Amino acid sequence: MEILKIEHLSKIYGKGEMAVKALDNVSFSVQKGEFVAIIGPSGSGKSTLLHMLGGVDRPTYGKVIIDNTDIYSLDETALAVFRRRQIGLIYQFYNLIPVLTVEENITLPLLLDQHKVDMKQLKEIVDALKLSDRLNHLPNQLSGGQQQRVSIGRALINNPSIILADEPTGNLDSKNSSEIIALLKMFNKMLNQTLIVITHDERIALQADRVISIEDGRIAKDEVIRP
Ligand code: ADP
Ligand code: ADP
Repeated sequence: MEILKIEHLSKIYGKGEMAVKALDNVSFSVQKGEFVAIIGPSGSGKSTLLHMLGGVDRPTYGKVIIDNTDIYSLDETALAVFRRRQIGLIYQFYNLIPVLTVEENITLPLLLDQHKVDMKQLKEIVDALKLSDRLNHLPNQLSGGQQQRVSIGRALINNPSIILADEPTGNLDSKNSSEIIALLKMFNKMLNQTLIVITHDERIALQADRVISIEDGRIAKDEVIRP
């Protein structure tokens, strides 16, 4: 089943002489459950692509269709709700809220929609992430690997159909990087969620099912490495 489809996506930042074409007519689709790595040199448009996929920033041209919804046809309020329910975002620098505890950070997406926390589901996620003894800690009391595990919990709590991660291991040492990727892969297989990861790290790209290389805002290569 096709969960994500992008059609003729272009993004131009700025206007006139200052205009930068960050994405240039990119189209591809992703199947439910697929683990896709997006690689490419710095400035090639990877983060721009991820922002477009994540409903964070509107494309200049083209469509992003997630689970049959053309997401940029939604108004800002509906898009914000769609994003919280269907898309889990993971960032290089975690983007946790410093004054909220681990538990509060993880359950924030539910609370923003006035949904009750399913304590059984929370426990399963927290146990899998090995954070059960950290629920009342603040982010600055955690190591980098632990903070990234909290952000994985926050991304998973709404059972989104897609997890998008922008250099999730970019700030971690190799041991913590391996652990984070192992966790992302485990949830990807266990929950049959789609996982899209931007990475500079070839060892991570080689663990994906498919590797898309971006150069100058275009797809330079799209290889299935694990059918
Ligand atoms: P990558 O993630 O591959 O490093 P980006 O998507 O961040 O690449 O950037 C692609 C291009 O778009 C670069 O030339 C970058 O300078 C430019 N760019 C990114 N964001 C903006 C912005 N907000 N305003 C202007 N130019 C931008
Ligand atoms: P790492 O081994 O990943 O570099 P740290 O040395 O930062 O991690 O931390 C080691 C352990 O100490 C971790 O379990 C972390 O949660 C805990 N820790 C670090 N800083 C604090 C703090 N300010 N308060 C409570 N626990 C902390």
